[in-house]
Amino acid sequence: MTDCLFCRIVAGEVPADVVARTPTTLAFRDIDPKAPTHVLVVPVDHVDDAGALDAGHGALLADLMATATAVAEAEGVAASGYRLVCNVGDDAGNTVAHLHLHLLGGRSLAWPPG
Ligand code: AMP
Ligand code: ZN
Repeated sequence: MTDCLFCRIVAGEVPADVVARTPTTLAFRDIDPKAPTHVLVVPVDHVDDAGALDAGHGALLADLMATATAVAEAEGVAASGYRLVCNVGDDAGNTVAHLHLHLLGGRSLAWPPG
């Protein structure tokens, strides 16, 4: 059994509030939301983080973005606006070593983030 939390969520071994699923991606609500809409979009197949991506991941990246766009529309934030965040490494506060996009929306988001 993998000890990767998001692989376990993808496998259904850890419960999550899933909002979208495709053959290559899964989207579920963040357990500690930082905005009214806070959804994580992850690849089904494990990738450590954005620093591990290469040219062979082009289709997967397109799939992740397409799922994020669909979630934004379904969550009603596509028109009002939203932010996609991808943390890499300690200084960014990356805590789960499985690539994920944070989709944040539903309120005005400060820039730059604190
Ligand atoms: P990051 O800091 O970019 O690695 O983001 C990891 C995110 O995963 C954080 O926003 C956490 O709140 C979230 N998280 C941790 N455990 C779970 C879980 N079991 N279900 C949903 N989200 C989680
Ligand atoms: Zn994983």
